[in-house]
Amino acid sequence: MSSVLDRFLRYVQYDTQSDERSTTYPSTGKQLVLLRDLASELREMGLTDASIDQYGYVTATIPATVDKAGIPVIGFIAHVDTSPEMSGAGVKPIVHRAYDGRDLVLPDAPDAVLRASDIPELAHHIGHDIVTASGTTLLGSDDKAGVAEIMSAAARLAAHPEIPHGAIRIAFTPDEEIGRGTKHFDVAGFGAAYAYTLDGGPRGEIEFESFSADAFTATFHGFNTHPGYAKGRMVNAIKVAAAFIASLPPDSLSPETTGEYEGFVHPYVVQASVDTTSVKLIVRDFVTAALKDKEAMLTDLAERAVAQHPGARVEIAIEEQYRNMREVLDRHPDVVEHAREAIRRAGLEPRSKPIRGGTDGSRLSFMGLPTPNLFAGEHNFHSRLEWVAVQDMEKAVEVIINLTTVWALSGSQG
Ligand SMILES: [Zn+2]
Repeated sequence: MSSVLDRFLRYVQYDTQSDERSTTYPSTGKQLVLLRDLASELREMGLTDASIDQYGYVTATIPATVDKAGIPVIGFIAHVDTSPEMSGAGVKPIVHRAYDGRDLVLPDAPDAVLRASDIPELAHHIGHDIVTASGTTLLGSDDKAGVAEIMSAAARLAAHPEIPHGAIRIAFTPDEEIGRGTKHFDVAGFGAAYAYTLDGGPRGEIEFESFSADAFTATFHGFNTHPGYAKGRMVNAIKVAAAFIASLPPDSLSPETTGEYEGFVHPYVVQASVDTTSVKLIVRDFVTAALKDKEAMLTDLAERAVAQHPGARVEIAIEEQYRNMREVLDRHPDVVEHAREAIRRAGLEPRSKPIRGGTDGSRLSFMGLPTPNLFAGEHNFHSRLEWVAVQDMEKAVEVIINLTTVWALSGSQG
């Protein structure tokens, strides 16, 4: 059995779901069970400094095998938690050997079928071994594929000191799925110059562009009175907010009407009462400066809605969420270039597409650790139809090892 598959099948059976309602760190204690076991496995490989800190972050070092000045320390990072959107308890992984192109029927739910006609990517995996869950849970390849790949690469590097590389740092983190994965991450203590998350999709992909993101809240204030005595006095904040929402562009600038490099504004929560109604929106664009234009438009629409309702007023609050990692990575072109070279050395064609969201790498890049995202082989994540091909996981292990060598040979400071 392939060692990356063996590890993957073990790790997905740990329930590591995170919980956004929790106020602890990590958000759920069960993530610590896997994190502690990963630290022990790293020590068993001979990585003697492997440890887990008070927040649950696991780190370890693979010492350099070449003695050459100027090789930067490179990090590899994956998250252990799975999405709160779908159960990750009692995952029963199934290996469908030598996939033959037919639909994959999952045994525990009659409607859980990976249809070849719905999932064109499957056609690229004829002959591969495909892992799915059994139909009632997610699989957890997001991001246990990344965890298994980094662990397998670490085991191989630890056992083969003849492979040339500089010092390598490894980190496993909790709570990525609820946006807190980097909250207590100690970039200086980690000590890497550059890092890669292994948390991406199809083989060959490297992602280095993410959205820039702000949160925008419009709070409309009206005036409430007894409805029987309201004539000429009541100002209904719900109606002001409704006018604002109705004035958003119907055919553009929304998640449901944009793709590729287009940004959007997106109302996602309304808290309503006659007296006060707040509308929360997210604002997204690949160009950070363009967030301001979208926010100016929203402010203008909110003020127009207020102007139609004498006696109403509005308060606007804007909060920065994360920024496009490309702004940082463009200053360190070797980070992406070396990844492309490592992917080519694994016999794959490097491919990139913009991430219409953020990653831990977006935040880490702005915390001083430039961190693009490499493919891990994940598909249909957060779903009962999640799947991963074993051959993609093996390629990801190869890419990690190639990357350590490419950095050692170039010895560049990025
Ligand atoms: Zn992930």
